[in-house]
Amino acid sequence: MNPILFLDVDGVINSSHYLLSYRFDVGAPAEQERAKRAPRGSESICPTLLGRVDRIVRETGCDVVVSSAWRHGRDVHELTALFRSRGATFRVRSSTPLDRWILTAEEIAAGRTVTEETRGDQVQAWLDVHGGRGRGERWGGWPAPIVLLDDTSDMAHLTPYLVLTDHHVGVTDADAERAIGMLRADGAALAEVPRG
Ligand SMILES: [Mg+2]
Repeated sequence: MNPILFLDVDGVINSSHYLLSYRFDVGAPAEQERAKRAPRGSESICPTLLGRVDRIVRETGCDVVVSSAWRHGRDVHELTALFRSRGATFRVRSSTPLDRWILTAEEIAAGRTVTEETRGDQVQAWLDVHGGRGRGERWGGWPAPIVLLDDTSDMAHLTPYLVLTDHHVGVTDADAERAIGMLRADGAALAEVPRG
C-alpha cells in the first residue's frame, strides 16, 4: 500500500498572510470572472503553497487523504477539482471520517460539553477502516509511512508523524522536504508505487 499524506487546508495550503493579501485583488474584473467559474472556495487556496504539496506527492507517490474541515460538504471529486483549479496534479483519494458532534454517555457523565475526539483519532479511524493493522504500531498500523501535514497539533498518539506548519506562512520548502523524507522512511522508491 502507498504512503499516505493526511492533508489539512487552512494554515497549510493557505496562510493568514495569503488570505490577507488576496483580499486586495478580488476587485479585479478578470479575477471576478475567474471566480465565477471556479470551484467554491478556490480563491482561498494559495497556488504556491499547494505546489509544495504537489511536489511531496510527485516525489513520494503518496496518496492524499484530506483531514481538513474542508472535507465537510465536499466529496473527493469536488476536493480534487478544487485543488486542480489551483494547479495541483494529484487527485484526492479519500477524506477522514467527519467530525463527531454527538457526545457519548461516558462523555456526558464526565460533564463534557464537546467531544474528546482529536484529529489524530479521526486519522486513526481512517487507517483502521482502510486496512491498517491497528493502533499502537508504527504509522498507526498502516503498512507504509504516513505524514500528517497540519498547522494544529491535536494528533494524539500520531504526533510523531506530524509535520507542523505555521499558519502565518503555510507549508514551507523545509516542511515539504521533511514530509518527503518521512514518507520515504521505508526506502520506497517512486517507481515501485503505481500512480492511478
Ligand atoms: Mg488548519
